[in-house]
Amino acid sequence: MHGNFFDIGINLTHESFEFDYKKVLEKAFANNINKICLTGTSILDSERCLEIAKEFEKNLITTVGIHPHNADSFDESTKFKIFELAKSSLVRAIGETGLDFNRNFSSKKNQIKSFIDHIEIANKVNLPLFLHQRDAHKDFMNCVSNEEILTKGVVHCFTGSVSELYDYLDHDLYIGITGWLCDPKRGKSLEHVIPKIPLEKLMIETDSPYLLPKNIKVKNKRNEPYLLPVIFNKICSLRNESNEVIQNQIYENSMNFFNLNE
Ligand SMILES: [Zn+2]
Repeated sequence: MHGNFFDIGINLTHESFEFDYKKVLEKAFANNINKICLTGTSILDSERCLEIAKEFEKNLITTVGIHPHNADSFDESTKFKIFELAKSSLVRAIGETGLDFNRNFSSKKNQIKSFIDHIEIANKVNLPLFLHQRDAHKDFMNCVSNEEILTKGVVHCFTGSVSELYDYLDHDLYIGITGWLCDPKRGKSLEHVIPKIPLEKLMIETDSPYLLPKNIKVKNKRNEPYLLPVIFNKICSLRNESNEVIQNQIYENSMNFFNLNE
């Protein structure tokens, strides 16, 4: 039993971490969160993530890609940049990409084009995909069906229904669970889905600084990776396996997903 945790998604370049991101990381490491994947959301942001990952290369890896919110900025030169960045051994996934029709900060058309191109990039460089889907399940599934994912993919911050879960599992996708689950109101429907996720497809993430688990109190309301076990404990309370079995399996899933087991 190694007792370690892997946070598969944090937004460490968020302005709220600007002055103390090193302390945030040290606190996470001290609390057995020994592996963390940073989430890249634009070219500039992905470059910054890679710089930080290099500072802590024993513990950090990163994704590179364009968030659906920024899909209007996606063009041939950004595509080229992603290919360039993906050459680093610390880049272990392409994304986050996908569709967000909740706020449509970028046009639907551009989001779909960007998403499909990200799948193509991931297939070419043989890296897994870090995927985001909000209020766009049908179109998301169309993209995944039309542009086959030849590598692996995780639908991060999964908050969907059982039938959405089965759609993802049909495409062999992994499921990332955040502190959304710990929200006494919003997380209720998700509680019923948790036991139905095959343990070998399950991973966990804080999505810091967002999605602070609502079942705990912290002073500055900022979510941080050291809080990952709060999500883990909630998952354990909803499943039949022992905590040890769940912890080992989701850690192994994450190591395999990002290809960190040599
Ligand atoms: Zn996201």
